[in-house]
Amino acid sequence: MFKVQKPVIVVHGGAGAWYPERSQSGLEGVKKAADVGFEILKRDGEAVDAVVEAVAIMEDDDSFNAGYGSSLNLEKRVEMEASVMDGKTLKAGAAGLLKDIKNPIHLARIVMDKTDHVFVVGEGADKLARMFNLERRKPFTKLRLKYYEKQKKLLVEGKFKLLKLASLVKKCPDFFELDTVGAVALDKNGNVAAATSTGGFPLKIPGRIGDSPLIGCGNYADNRCGACSATGVGEIAIRLVLAKTVCNFMESGMPAQHAVEQAITLVNKRLNDVYNSMGLIAVDVYGRVGAAHNSPNLCWAYITPEKSKPIASLTAKLVKTPP
Ligand code: ASP
Repeated sequence: MFKVQKPVIVVHGGAGAWYPERSQSGLEGVKKAADVGFEILKRDGEAVDAVVEAVAIMEDDDSFNAGYGSSLNLEKRVEMEASVMDGKTLKAGAAGLLKDIKNPIHLARIVMDKTDHVFVVGEGADKLARMFNLERRKPFTKLRLKYYEKQKKLLVEGKFKLLKLASLVKKCPDFFELDTVGAVALDKNGNVAAATSTGGFPLKIPGRIGDSPLIGCGNYADNRCGACSATGVGEIAIRLVLAKTVCNFMESGMPAQHAVEQAITLVNKRLNDVYNSMGLIAVDVYGRVGAAHNSPNLCWAYITPEKSKPIASLTAKLVKTPP
C-alpha cells in the first residue's frame, strides 16, 4: 500500500508556450504561490484555504493570464472568471464576467461560502463583490496589450478569418498565450481542494465563458479521490468534462500522474481535429502529484513534505498525439 504523504500542494501558471521574456517570472510566480499555499497547509490550514491563497498570489502577478495580467477579449476588455471546490463537502463557488475585481478567486469563495449558489456572473457578481467589500483593480497590462495588438493585426489584415476560434488558433498558436492559474492541495486532515482563475482565451468573444469557472471542466475536487485543475483551450476541457474525468480516473485507482496522462491521451484521441492544447495538474488522496500536457509548455510547481522547497518547471510529462 502506498504511504500517504501530507500535506501537498501543486500549482500551475498555465499551458501554452512560455517564451524567455516571461519564463523566469513565471517560474518565480508559481514557486511563490506554492510556498504561500504550503505555509497554510503546514500550519494545519485547510486545503481550500491553501488553494485560494495560492491562486490569489498568481492573480496579483502580471506574468499570468488571471487577475491583473488577464488577456484582453476581442473588444480589448477584460472579463475574468474563477472557481473553487472543496473536496470535503463538494461545495463549490464560481464567478464570471468580472471586469475589475482584484482577486476573482476570493469572489468565487464568497459564492461558495456565503450564497446558496455555485456560479454567479456579471452584474450580480459585481453586486456581491460590493456587499463583501472586495478590492478592485483595473486589469490592463502593457504585456497583454502588446499580445492583443499582434493578434488583432493579423485578424484585421485578413491573414485568417475568425470563423471559429479553434481554426484560428490552429493557424497561429504562437499568438495565443494560455496562462490561466490553478492550484490543488491535500491537507493534513486528508481533505482536497482545487481552485482555478483566468482572464480567459485571448481575443475571445465578449460574454464567452471558458472551462475555468465550470465545475468539472476546469476544476474538480472530491475527498474520495483527489483534485484537478486544468489549463488550455477551455472548449476542449468543457467538451470532455476534463477535471472530473481526471478525478474519475483517480477514483478507479489510478495515481494522479497516470490519471492526468490518461486524460491528455483522451484529448488527443477524441478531439484531435481541432486546436486541443491542454495542461493538467492533480493530487490524489495519497498525496501523489500529477502533471501532464500536450501544449508546448506547462508552468507549474509543487511541494511535498519531503521537499521543503518548491520544485518548479516549464514542462511536465508531454503526452503526444498518437500517429
Ligand atoms: N482555459 C482557459 C480558457 O479557455 C485558458 C487558459 O488556460 O489559459 O479560458
